[in-house]
Amino acid sequence: MSRSTRARRGSMPRLLLSVIACFCVALCSGASALAARTVTAVEVRSEAHGAVVAISTAEAGKLELDSFVLTEPPRLVFDLPSAMLDPELPDTLPVESLRFNQIRLGQFSVEPEVARLVVDLSRRDPPVTWELLPGDGECESLLLLHDPEVTMLAEPVVSLSEGALLVRVPGAGALERSVGEADDPPRIYLDLTGGAVGEGLEVDCIQEPLRQIRSGQQEPVEGRPVARIVLEFGTRQAYAVFSEEADLVIAAGPHAWALPLPKYEGTGKLRRKKIVLDPGHGGDDIGAPAAFGSPPGGPYEKDIVLDIGHRLARLLETEGARVTMTRKDDSYISLHERAAIPNRLRADALVSIHCNSYDRPNTLCGTSVYYDHRHSIRFAELVHEELIAALGTESKGVRNANYAVIRRAKVPGVLVETAYINHDEDRERLVHPNFRERAARAILQGLIRFLCGESG
Ligand SMILES: [Zn+2]
Repeated sequence: MSRSTRARRGSMPRLLLSVIACFCVALCSGASALAARTVTAVEVRSEAHGAVVAISTAEAGKLELDSFVLTEPPRLVFDLPSAMLDPELPDTLPVESLRFNQIRLGQFSVEPEVARLVVDLSRRDPPVTWELLPGDGECESLLLLHDPEVTMLAEPVVSLSEGALLVRVPGAGALERSVGEADDPPRIYLDLTGGAVGEGLEVDCIQEPLRQIRSGQQEPVEGRPVARIVLEFGTRQAYAVFSEEADLVIAAGPHAWALPLPKYEGTGKLRRKKIVLDPGHGGDDIGAPAAFGSPPGGPYEKDIVLDIGHRLARLLETEGARVTMTRKDDSYISLHERAAIPNRLRADALVSIHCNSYDRPNTLCGTSVYYDHRHSIRFAELVHEELIAALGTESKGVRNANYAVIRRAKVPGVLVETAYINHDEDRERLVHPNFRERAARAILQGLIRFLCGESG
């Protein structure tokens, strides 16, 4: 956005202007190399990223600036050698900025001629940066003062990932944000405090269903700039907003469960906890198929639950847990062995992962969690609560069932039926990697709440 605006202002025109400027300097220097230039006008414009000081001289050519910082009070000083200030110029120029209090002008010395421009700062750190650019005519120079506490936002980058649309705003991840939505047309807007977009942006027909991205500067809040980014859609979208590294990411798509998730940052909550994960079935035992028949139609339960198991194992490891999987690949393990592993390890918890199915396809759908022992009831309730909140599936409740693995295991254990593989809507979810990741994170949260106290 504003970076590109500046690039537009600065690339070709800047080159042309500096060519003109050099030409003028060559002409003028022929007349008198040492003649001082007269500064005829100094204008200050406040911008979201700081301030722009336009300096005009009677003679054409590039200005020279020496800059240094003084303290008590903090100020940034620019000396202009071989320059005389027009006596008509004001002594002080106000700046509407939290960082820059005012600009003072003075003739520092007459012999040699040195004009001085002092920027009074509200504080010294972090240091203000500046650059000098050619202005509109060959007699104008622009001194750009950047407030380092304002983030210049780069142009958003749009991409598609696993069915979701991603809009990445480079460098905006750490900014304070507020997010909202509106209708007619459907749109999402983000206000980023401390962000600047310069002249803003308006780009149409980006990538269906995104119709337009625009950005602009809102009214400052308590002196801090507020950049607004608006995403306009053809139809209403589910969305998620998160920081990823230094960037801000807005994910949008038809389903909330399909949206990508930010990278999981573990905090070691499950340090030294022993967790056994049991992805159901495996090998010749394909589990429930998506469609019955001979051969049965895929996808198969055994593959989906293994993927969820690996995802959950990675998450648990970031929380410091010691994870054992009853199977890590497409192999079959007996029910006896699946229950013996947590007992042998004296594990803190066992999670068996499955997909449900029903004799008649497209009849039942939803998520349920089963327990057998009484000491597992609360565990099952917490995992179920997290799954329903995260997945948007129908609640099929928490149930007692006499499944061999959780019956034979003596440690707290639950059996999760994530969704129905032979129901079209549930299956659309189950085959989606972001849904599986959501399911794994929900089970993780249930585990954390169970093992570390309800608040997690
Ligand atoms: Zn199963």
